[in-house]
Amino acid sequence: MIASGRIKLLPPDLVQLIAAGEVVERPLSVVKELVENSLDAGARNIWVEIEGSPDAHLLVSDDGEGMSREEAVLAFERHSTSKISESEDLDRIVTFGFRGEALPSIASVARVKLTTLREGDQTGCEIELEGGKALDVRDAGRGKGTSVLVRDLFFNTPARRKFLKTVRSEMKAIAKLITAFSLTTPACAFYVVHNGRKTLTLPPAQDLRERMTTIFGERTVDSMVELLPGMSGVELRGFLGKPELSRNSAEHIYIFVNSRWIQSALLMKALKEGYRDLIPRDRYPMAVISLIVDPAQVDVNVHPSKREIRFKDERLVFETVRGCVRQSLSPHGTELPAGEHGWIGHETWIGHGGEDKFRGPGVRGHLRDGGTGENRGFPYESRPDMEAGISFVRELLTKEGGEESPKAETDREDVGLVNLWQLHGTYILGETKGGLVLIDQHAAHERILYEHAMGSFKGQDRASQQLLFPLVLDFAKDEFENFLEMSQWLKKLGFDLVVFGERTVLVRGIPSSLRRWDEGQALRDIVDFFSEDSGDEFPPEEKAARAFACCGAVNAGEVLNQQEMNWLINALFLTKVPDGDPHGRPTFIRVSLAELEKRFGRR
Ligand code: ADP
Ligand code: MG
Repeated sequence: MIASGRIKLLPPDLVQLIAAGEVVERPLSVVKELVENSLDAGARNIWVEIEGSPDAHLLVSDDGEGMSREEAVLAFERHSTSKISESEDLDRIVTFGFRGEALPSIASVARVKLTTLREGDQTGCEIELEGGKALDVRDAGRGKGTSVLVRDLFFNTPARRKFLKTVRSEMKAIAKLITAFSLTTPACAFYVVHNGRKTLTLPPAQDLRERMTTIFGERTVDSMVELLPGMSGVELRGFLGKPELSRNSAEHIYIFVNSRWIQSALLMKALKEGYRDLIPRDRYPMAVISLIVDPAQVDVNVHPSKREIRFKDERLVFETVRGCVRQSLSPHGTELPAGEHGWIGHETWIGHGGEDKFRGPGVRGHLRDGGTGENRGFPYESRPDMEAGISFVRELLTKEGGEESPKAETDREDVGLVNLWQLHGTYILGETKGGLVLIDQHAAHERILYEHAMGSFKGQDRASQQLLFPLVLDFAKDEFENFLEMSQWLKKLGFDLVVFGERTVLVRGIPSSLRRWDEGQALRDIVDFFSEDSGDEFPPEEKAARAFACCGAVNAGEVLNQQEMNWLINALFLTKVPDGDPHGRPTFIRVSLAELEKRFGRR
């Protein structure tokens, strides 16, 4: 080690470990790097096989061009790459890899065995490494291609092990990543195998549309429109879900730039802006969008994970995407009226100004004021009788008053609201004996539905409402796994479901407390919400109840009438914990007369 005073040059193996941390964050990043290598090698079939936990045993195999023995040994040297050789190449990167860092980084934090046979060679070779050090290089037989087995990831960096996600969520992330890769390379087949079971099979496809059909199902793809091709400089390809396919998360949006699956706030905004006024602002479209831009116009060398990129001309890219999305969605190919605001600049983007800010998400409030009849109201059949509700609460107060803490007692005393106002389509304002109360309508309804759901899981009968026209729903492949995981809870909630086929469900009935159904979108939303709930420590029924509550509840921005507001408040105070929603947010705020008097200087 070279040392001079307090400053020392780090020993090379430590440098290696630090750099590896940037490339290899978790098992998912190993899959990403290895699959990229396989694609760069021209593979037609890629297998990802996992035994037990993805950090314990992960194998990626391909039938790509393979490597000679010398190349294979060299591949584990830092900054050895066959993909670029001079600095100008950085401006025209067309392969996934280019840093020559992945293999050495993975090898430095795991036990790795690479087996490869180059096209035309008689014998292949096998290299074993542990913690970055080569243990053995020997001849080996195999077909053309390369396999990399990665075991005991982070065995020598215990601090990293602590941050590993659960097997379930890592497997999901891997399936999602492979799905994304498969959308850029339809001709290549992908297989994910977990503990010997095929969990994802994507056979080779003719084109993007066929690949999308495998992933999302025919019915879904049939209700998508093809994206217009863009312009020279910023070419576009892909498909857009019609507005009625909108979802409650960005889960079903895939954006690629020069075949790289990327995350870009800029492109996400351009896409959402393209859908402006076609879907509510708090919803997301389904979309697969692929941009082809001159490699010199993008910088992918921003982050080691290569998922972030930078454009030289952000404005051009933004306007092209926004405009093409909008035009593709318009039925006659003419541009729909654009939003009042176009480009403001990536960092300073505000999107909306004016009144909208005060109306909560979207302009739906205005629409409903205009009497479009969009507001369906609460399902009346599931409402407790209002009068009975109020007297029940009063009874509750007199009976339980003694046992409650003094604070809770006054809370309860406040019940019995009559005159209600809705503020900004979001809050309900009511006069109480002791002052006033402000209720968050979404949070309150969530609490009510959550307790209904938990009750139905405990065996209390859940009212179900038969659909006049049973609905056939196609789920995307990964979504269907989530659906199956959840289906027992859905049935208890009152969904009448029949599964047929690999991803298709027939819905015959829905819970009568469900406020919106939207041709099955509500069910998709619930499944999405359930699978994205990161609270792995919570029992599944609680997550199911939360998903049902959040997706079934009235949204902020929805106009309610007096009757609906009264029902909501009475039902809220009939729950066990009226004070908070299932996520711990408050459902209501009280302001006492005393406080008002103080603020007005009356006292
Ligand atoms: P990079 O992909 O940035 O070049 P890597 O460390 O991922 O760096 O790989 C180093 C080199 O090893 C690659 O440039 C490529 O030549 C070779 N290589 C890696 N994986 C494969 C594979 N699956 N098939 C063929 N060659 C591979
Ligand atoms: Mg690579």
